[in-house]
Amino acid sequence: MTIRSTGYCLLAAALLLLAGCGEAEHRHEIAYVPEVPPTCTETGLAGHWACKTCGETFSDENGEMPADPEVLEPFDHNFVREEVKRAACEAEGLALLTCLRCGEEEQEVLPATGHLFGSWECTSSPGCETPGEESRTCVYCSKAETRPLAPAGHTYGKDNVCIRCTAELLPSPGLAYAPITGEDGNLAGYSVSIGTSSATEIVIAPYYEGLPVLAVEKAGFQNSVITAFTAYATLEDVGEDAFRGCIFLAEISLPNGVKTVGEGAFFGCSSVTSLTLGSSLERIGSTSFFNLQSLKSIAVHEENACFSGEGGCLIERATGKLILGSAASTIPETVTEICDFAFYNNSGIQAAVIPQSVTRIGVGAFSGCTSLREFTYKGSAEAWEQVEKGASWRDHAAFTDVTFAG
Ligand SMILES: [Zn+2]
Ligand SMILES: [Zn+2]
Ligand SMILES: [Zn+2]
Ligand SMILES: [Zn+2]
Repeated sequence: MTIRSTGYCLLAAALLLLAGCGEAEHRHEIAYVPEVPPTCTETGLAGHWACKTCGETFSDENGEMPADPEVLEPFDHNFVREEVKRAACEAEGLALLTCLRCGEEEQEVLPATGHLFGSWECTSSPGCETPGEESRTCVYCSKAETRPLAPAGHTYGKDNVCIRCTAELLPSPGLAYAPITGEDGNLAGYSVSIGTSSATEIVIAPYYEGLPVLAVEKAGFQNSVITAFTAYATLEDVGEDAFRGCIFLAEISLPNGVKTVGEGAFFGCSSVTSLTLGSSLERIGSTSFFNLQSLKSIAVHEENACFSGEGGCLIERATGKLILGSAASTIPETVTEICDFAFYNNSGIQAAVIPQSVTRIGVGAFSGCTSLREFTYKGSAEAWEQVEKGASWRDHAAFTDVTFAG
């Protein structure tokens, strides 16, 4: 045992000695390694000192300060660009890129420029009932585009004959006319009512016996079975209850000359789906469009100074009050009040979003909206508490809770 242990000790001592000798014997052989420059795509190495034998690198020529040599970042290509194929209005072009340093080539697709059209010019004037056409031409490639011009519509003279095409407008037979006296005491024109007419599609001609048809008589077509009526530019006034209870009437489209629509004029016209109002309208009664339960669209001539049709709503411009809504209304952020009965009994409306600008919701405003399942207020529950609500504002509406999205 003693001998063996001595032998181990000797062997370990010899190994230690050898190792010590090896370390002492390697002397770095330092030489300068010149810079390897980077290329366009690959890194290079800065000039440095290194040992020829073990490869260790140094920042000094005596090999005393080991350090990694500095890596030199690649250049980017230095391309010159040559347009091989020019882009056209509808066709892509091509450019060739060549690197001045390494000769690498790349292609670049040049997007089509698109046409540059001049202004529209009328190439064919519209007729009374036939569309016209206008066209414009691309200044680059001469490509032409055309679009139709809407028919101009007839312009009737006092005999109800068009001054351009001589087409004659025949009013529905049997209508009754009552004289209207002007401020000067003279006969100014006529008001019209159903008389003995049995027509269901009523045509109200612009003139009667050479004078303008200015008004629809008070209660003139009330509770009749008409399905449609057409009126022309001379009409200024739709009297009280004029079309009240016309439950088969499908559409209301008033010509631009109409200034006033009396109380109850279209009260309870339950089949009306679209309402179009003209540029001169300035007065509407509070019950003029009451209970239009099928109403799906509202449009107002954009030049109307008193009312706007923004968001498919009928809005009084001066006050921001929403007078009437339809199933497709989007209440604008500027509305201050939803007026009494604005959506009353509308059976088509499914969702309503009330902006924070609204401070009052009127009497019966959403009452009877039996499909209105989503009712959202764009504010907090606290702010909603502050909104004034008229009596029965939501009776029989389909929604249960108000959703707050403030
Ligand atoms: Zn070395
Ligand atoms: Zn290159
Ligand atoms: Zn072009
Ligand atoms: Zn004509």
